Formats: sequence, C-alpha cells, structure tokens
Amino acid sequence: MMIQLRNAALTYQSPDGEVEALRDISFDMEEGEFLSIVGPSGCGKSTLLAAIAGLEPLSGGTVTVDGIAVTEPSSRIAFMPQRDQLFEWKSIWDNVTLPLAIRHCATPERLAHVRELLQRYGLEAFAKKRPAQLSGGMRQRCALIRTLASQPRILLLDEPFSALDYQTRLSVSADIYRIIRQENKTALLVTHDIAEAISVSDRVVVLSQRPAVVKTVCDMGPLRLLDPMARRDTEIFHTFFNLIWKELDIHE
Ligand code: ADP
Ligand code: MG
Repeated sequence: MMIQLRNAALTYQSPDGEVEALRDISFDMEEGEFLSIVGPSGCGKSTLLAAIAGLEPLSGGTVTVDGIAVTEPSSRIAFMPQRDQLFEWKSIWDNVTLPLAIRHCATPERLAHVRELLQRYGLEAFAKKRPAQLSGGMRQRCALIRTLASQPRILLLDEPFSALDYQTRLSVSADIYRIIRQENKTALLVTHDIAEAISVSDRVVVLSQRPAVVKTVCDMGPLRLLDPMARRDTEIFHTFFNLIWKELDIHE
C-alpha cells in the first residue's frame, strides 16, 4: 500500500478558537491509483491534501507513504493548484522549469525530461510564448507539466478545473487524466463535481460535513477500463452518480 491514512484527525487552532476540520479519516491508496475526494464545501478536503503533503500536522492518527510517516513536505509529492498560477511575464519554458530553478536542481537530465514532456503533450512549439498566448486547456497542461518537472510520484490536485467553463472542463479533465495515466503517477483529486470524479477515478471517497469522516468509498469497477468521455456514456455512470449524490450531506 502506497499511501495509508489511519484515523487521521486535524483541528486548527485559531485566535477565535478551535476548528475541527478532520475527525476520522482512514483509507488506502495503491501505487498508480487515481482517487477522488468529494464532499460538501468547507468539509476539510483541502485540509486533507495539506496533511498528506506534510504541510499541516495531524492532531491524531497517521498518514504514511511507503510505510513512513509524513511529517514534512517532500519532492515525492507535488501539488497542482486550483488556478494555473503561471507567471504572465515569463515564457512557457521558464514557467515549467521554475520548480527546478527554485530548488537548484535544474540538471541537464531534468531539463531534458521537461522538454520531452512539452514535446509529448504538444506544447514544444509554445516554449518561447507567454501564457496569455495559450488556451485555457493548454495553460492547464502547462501547469501539470510544471508539477511533473520535479518528478514526483504522487500528485495532489485541489479542484484544478474549477476555474474553467463546463465545456472546457470536460476536455481538460480528460486531457489531464490521460497525461497522469501515461506518466504512471498516483493521483489524488479533490473536486466538488461528482461527474468529474466518476469520469477520472478508480475509486471515489465521499466525505461528510465538517468535521470530516469517510462516509463511503465507491469503486468505479468496470468504468476503470474506460477513458473519461466514454464513461459518461454508460448506464452505470448514472448509477454511481445517484449513489454518490445520496451519500453527500448537501441535502436540506
Ligand atoms: P474544503 O477544502 O473542503 O472546502 P477546507 O479544508 O479548506 O475545506 O476547510 C475546512 C475547515 O477548516 C473550514 O471550516 C475552514 O474555514 C477551516 N480552515 C481551513 N484552513 C484553516 C486555518 N489555516 N486555520 C483555521 N481554520 C482553517
Ligand atoms: Mg478546498
């Protein structure tokens, strides 16, 4: 088991008092698995990613990666943020190699790897262009390549498509799914979009209202073999949608 959460709990101490964000979260992730987290707004999803990334210490329970407790950030785990956060005044090449420059690890091998990613995913011709010259989908692909530049094994994606309009989101999420699969990464995606979760994941974890506990873990079974667009055309897709919808605590 690659990632293991056991009774993970996290309470924020703030000037206004305590905020219990996570109460009791346990689940496992296999190497290469694509897992999505859905839950009501404010239930603790971003908090959960921060804990797995080693950015927020747990108040109880454990998170381990390869059997070792996570206590600080590591280059094995990378974040893909909600907005693409590309610097408008920098070229695409400077943007995607920025994490390497910041960490002073821009070795020829790593730079060659980034160039290969740009090539493989159709962005090489844009290396010298600025972000403003790219479509929303291409920007997102750049953000993913920048995340992959430091060669992490695990990707944490916090609502990465929420700033895109519906049509763009469909194709961009399929695109990002394909790249993550092809690069053999383990991925944990937070989303508020049930259909998106079903279309890209091997399993979907449904969280309760804050303080978060795991309400259910839903295995996508036969859908695992299909790509995101094909999944949306199946009967079972709607069965999963209704199942997860009923589990979500967002009904009055
Ligand atoms: P979600 O991502 O599911 O919308 P978050 O994990 O961002 O939820 O937040 C969960 C709860 O924790 C919210 O009530 C939020 O206000 C609170 N929270 C988040 N970050 C902090 C912090 N640094 N200090 C205190 N409270 C926080
Ligand atoms: Mg959030």
